[in-house]
Amino acid sequence: MLSEFNLIKQFFKRDRPGRADLGIGDDCALLTPSPGMQLAISSDMLVEDRHFFAGADPVMLGHKSLAVNLSDLAAMGARPLGFTLALALPAADPHWLAGFSRGLFALADEHGCELVGGDTTKGPLNICITVFGELAPGHALRRDAARVGDDIWISGTLGDARLALAGYLAETALPDEDHAQAAWRMHMPAPRVALGLALAAQPVAHAALDISDGLVGDLGHILAASQVGATLEVDALPAGPVLARQSLELQRRFTLAGGDDYELCFTAPAANREAVLAAGRQSGTAVTRVGRIEAEPGLRFVSADGAPLDLALSGWDHFS
Ligand code: ADP
Ligand code: MG
Repeated sequence: MLSEFNLIKQFFKRDRPGRADLGIGDDCALLTPSPGMQLAISSDMLVEDRHFFAGADPVMLGHKSLAVNLSDLAAMGARPLGFTLALALPAADPHWLAGFSRGLFALADEHGCELVGGDTTKGPLNICITVFGELAPGHALRRDAARVGDDIWISGTLGDARLALAGYLAETALPDEDHAQAAWRMHMPAPRVALGLALAAQPVAHAALDISDGLVGDLGHILAASQVGATLEVDALPAGPVLARQSLELQRRFTLAGGDDYELCFTAPAANREAVLAAGRQSGTAVTRVGRIEAEPGLRFVSADGAPLDLALSGWDHFS
């Protein structure tokens, strides 16, 4: 059995100069933010049988554990600096640890985000990461910053991760290739860090968050914090390529109330439409305008021709 010290040394401590003044090995890590910048800090925990299935592929788990955290930095418009990793492991399995650290560091290196410390203990598999990022004071994309008249935008596509879950749970029959493609979206989300940075730079956007629990619920957080309402054009929502081959009913359900998407939902003044599209191009991320922020409280749905859709009447009340 690997000792805790050897496990950290073998799988998590890297022999290369990093951004931190002091990384893994002391009681604390030391990190200096760029002069004048504000720190953005967030934690996300992944628990076996709650956030992932027992026996999940360790490489993908390493990726996803960090991806969901980087997604929070992206949603704030922050640049990733570093992260800590608190791990509870049932056993020190070298095969699992090698895969997990490979998936973790591949994504960390892509974003220049350094592992600076953590904690390791024996216990039911549980992965908790805390990320640190930086941004210019006043530029954070906060949930309380939506304004009446703002457009509502979505990055990328929605619903394929939820469709993959439906496949695993046998709620929906999917051809193997479709399921594999959708499952990639579920296991390997791409945090929209470059888009978040581009939106926060001017700033171009007002409010933003990342969609983890489904668009309706998550957009509801922006509406509540900003004390506004909204209308969503349901059929403008960008469905994932696999979901787009399913029924309109399923497309509406999983784009509106899926989960595990890790796309950004953000609001921006209508005068910034060109700037939003430019931020999308600059970051190589598709952006789609899907609605509008309004003074009237609540969330309304309309079809492509602008006709009101009463989704509650067609079995839709369960996502509120
Ligand atoms: P302490 O006794 O201060 O809690 P530990 O023995 O838990 O320290 O950890 C030793 C060093 O290894 C610390 O710098 C800690 O941040 C780091 N560390 C522990 N577990 C991990 C991990 N899973 N990933 C990265 N660094 C870790
Ligand atoms: Mg410790």
